[in-house]
Amino acid sequence: MLDALRSRPVHTLPDRVRFAGRVLLLADDPELVRRQLEGQDVEWTPGLPLRDDISTDEITPAYICYYYDETLGEFPYLGLKCRDQFPVTRGAVQRGGFVASVSGKRRGKGSSREQSPYAELCAGIRLVVAENVERIYRENCQNLGLLVTTDFSILERVRRGEEIPLAAFSRGEGEITRGIVEYGGLFNYNVARLQGKVTVRPPATAARPMTLGEKILARHWVADPATGRVGVPAVRPGDEGFVRTDIRFSHEYVTPMAAIFFEQLVGPDAKVNDPGSVLMFRDHLTFLPDAMTPERVKAGLLDVALELEKKQRAFAERQGIKLYGELRLGAHGSEAICHSKILEAHAEPGQVIIGSDSHTPHAGAVGCVAFGVGTTAIFNSWITKDVRLTVPETVKVVVRGRKPHNVTAKDFMLEILRHPYVKSGAAIGKLVEYCGDAVAALSVDERATMTNMTAEVGGFTGYVAPDARTVEYLMAYRGVTRARAEALCAELASDAAAEYCQVLEFDAAAVRPMLALPGEPGNGIPIADAPGGERIRVDIAYAGSCTAGKKDDMDMYARVLREAVQRGERVPAGVRFYIQCGSQEVKRYCEEQGYLELFRQVGATFLEPSCGACINAGPGVSKTQDEVTISAINRNFPGRSGPGRLYLANPYTVAASALAGYVTVWEPGPRATLLPAG
Ligand code: SF4
Repeated sequence: MLDALRSRPVHTLPDRVRFAGRVLLLADDPELVRRQLEGQDVEWTPGLPLRDDISTDEITPAYICYYYDETLGEFPYLGLKCRDQFPVTRGAVQRGGFVASVSGKRRGKGSSREQSPYAELCAGIRLVVAENVERIYRENCQNLGLLVTTDFSILERVRRGEEIPLAAFSRGEGEITRGIVEYGGLFNYNVARLQGKVTVRPPATAARPMTLGEKILARHWVADPATGRVGVPAVRPGDEGFVRTDIRFSHEYVTPMAAIFFEQLVGPDAKVNDPGSVLMFRDHLTFLPDAMTPERVKAGLLDVALELEKKQRAFAERQGIKLYGELRLGAHGSEAICHSKILEAHAEPGQVIIGSDSHTPHAGAVGCVAFGVGTTAIFNSWITKDVRLTVPETVKVVVRGRKPHNVTAKDFMLEILRHPYVKSGAAIGKLVEYCGDAVAALSVDERATMTNMTAEVGGFTGYVAPDARTVEYLMAYRGVTRARAEALCAELASDAAAEYCQVLEFDAAAVRPMLALPGEPGNGIPIADAPGGERIRVDIAYAGSCTAGKKDDMDMYARVLREAVQRGERVPAGVRFYIQCGSQEVKRYCEEQGYLELFRQVGATFLEPSCGACINAGPGVSKTQDEVTISAINRNFPGRSGPGRLYLANPYTVAASALAGYVTVWEPGPRATLLPAG
């Protein structure tokens, strides 16, 4: 494979670029968006309210991602919510002849799905302009050859049809990103790298105090691609290069598109580099037949979605890659959700792990650098085993003190997410180090809730330095000896004099059970402060996902439910309560603990592992805008789990609210105190 790539022609793009087409302003006002789609050009002026926080769920809603080829060009922005409307219809962007797409702050937040920029590209968009852009989305754009800028003055030049220097889209970027822009994408750049047309010099950073994240990156730095030498004495924020990965994984939403890129660009018979360190998962869509609406089934979307499983399985079999697959024998479900299994069985302290999913930082709970990348980066890593990055600055999040008994790691995160520093987008792309005695007191499962939700923070990744709890976890889950576990965790700590760009401090004792109001995980408030003074009715309680389907989460649901059984209570009529675990290992644990019987006794429905309702693809999704869901999943962007209103809360709150029929905090004891919100 590598020999063929070394002799393949590859060139840089012309150094000036002209955009032939219209500009689409993704405005707050749905009517303004509609008028543009119907043919009216609208000029951008500084005061014009643009949509902020456009997530990839809005650019390509989950059901759109069943497509993995150029068909995606019919769908960009189908989930875009402007006020209470969805102004973009199928094919409208493509028909409109748009070449540039403009929005406000935090463009491309949320899922790492590369279908979003690929859909934009296939619809004709060549340029994305936004006030700031989320890391993975920006990298995905660059990797695909889609140009990105935060300089709004370019819009006028686009309108006038002026030639613009290509360098305008890599200004301020490092050498590698510039190269990727110049070569029109990551694959061509990597081919040029293999051919020696571009050389990436290792950073000249002298030894310095480093954070743990920086140390791990320095140890994995590709110092000399010709000899395979890995490791440099030190790195600092801004150093750009490639790091060798220990584990690369993808799931069925991404593998097929990556496989097609691989087969088309590298060759149908080419072999993945070191398939033993690649893992694949069938986890997102195993319950889809239960959740898809009859209209979508009729439109053929179920058949399209089922192709994802087939394509991934065929590729994994052909390449000799381990696939955690779908349950057979008549039951829906998966062997495991990717993040759950990576943490339970694969991640080791000090490793570098990449995954095709924004919640890959989950594995940072055992002290590794695990981060999400897009399809093109995954497919390139199948060739090179490495991944490009720029060393981020590190934010230190310190949580001190003793938390109340009904507060969990989820509440810490909802508190962190509403901090002005995080809300402003300042943490985008940063390494996030979670520490403090309140974090040290958490189990590895609970730490994973924090590192997982670094995706919502917008961080590059999050981690907790390994300690005695990590050692115990590795012994329990991996069956390794104490000596081996301690050796894995040894010397993995930040230096005392390491530099942090920001330190955020929280008092665990002051944190209360939180509720993120619908639309955004950063909308957190203490439940006791919920507005309106009225009870928030609950129609659906969903207890599951990678974030909230771990053993500790099951313990929390069970604790609340056991008390309910003692009181003779059940989930009331009118509330659907689903409990879905993250892996077969967690299910076995539930069986051993007697939880399955307990869940049945209170009237909860237990589900085999899968992403399910978390990705709008399983029991627990809302069906109408009026339905209200409370869930311990990690994000509640519009449409994430159906059209209804989705509140986020901790596992105790989810279980207590399922029993009460309205949002309520849990107070332990033989008689629970059910406190209505407001
Ligand atoms: S459970 Fe939800 S957040 Fe986790 S991997 Fe699946 S879709 Fe993503």
